[in-house]
Amino acid sequence: MRSPLEALDLRGKKPSWVLLDLDNTLWDFDGNAEEALHVLFHRHRVAEHTGATAADFVQIYNRINHQYWARYEKGEVSKEVLRSARFTDAFLELNYPKEAMPGDIWKEYLDICPRLTRLMPGAQAFLEALAGSFRLAVLTNGFEETQQLKLACCHLAPYFEFVQSSEAVGHAKPGKPFFDLALQRAGAAANDCLYIGDTFRTDVMGGLQSGIPTAWYLRERSYAQAQAEDAAEWQGWEAFADEYRGAFASLPELQHALLTSI
Ligand SMILES: [Mg+2]
Repeated sequence: MRSPLEALDLRGKKPSWVLLDLDNTLWDFDGNAEEALHVLFHRHRVAEHTGATAADFVQIYNRINHQYWARYEKGEVSKEVLRSARFTDAFLELNYPKEAMPGDIWKEYLDICPRLTRLMPGAQAFLEALAGSFRLAVLTNGFEETQQLKLACCHLAPYFEFVQSSEAVGHAKPGKPFFDLALQRAGAAANDCLYIGDTFRTDVMGGLQSGIPTAWYLRERSYAQAQAEDAAEWQGWEAFADEYRGAFASLPELQHALLTSI
């Protein structure tokens, strides 16, 4: 299999719309989630009850959370089960005493996490620099209320003409209906947009399969590292090579390319 292009190449075309993924593209999901888990770890005295370290807790929770998200995306579990079971399962795996188990820790997490305000490096400056010259929208797989809260707490909402969450529209990335709906809302042709996201399977393949020029945000990783971690997700990308605009390591790099693309 041929590797997707490493270098960012916008082909001298200035898109009217820049469509952006939210989690781990603008909003530092991993950093904020870890901070919220640390708060819960200390609040519920997990170390005293189980002997586990905060790092153990974060690692176990992350593994279980990914498993539940995969099941949620397949329609095997509900949003309610996903939200609560990822915590109860993690606490059980740590042998946290059942009698001390906090009943609504999932609510505490949902209250803390979306209000945290770490952004991906350069995100604020990126949006500020693009705002005058491009029309901006967010395309996110996630819960409507949660994603809106994140944008509000970081004061990012005013940059976007619309925010489309999978929950609100009943379709999710990488499905074509999700992206078709976004194009409809923008009133734009696919080739007048550029879509940016960090996850190859849901973002890059999703955008490409819908005919949208798409670039891949490596999230500060080197290309070699991203290749080692994500190559399994590249299956079939070559069929859409025409729309692929390459990879970039940082938002300032994309910002420069977009502002000199005219
Ligand atoms: Mg993402």
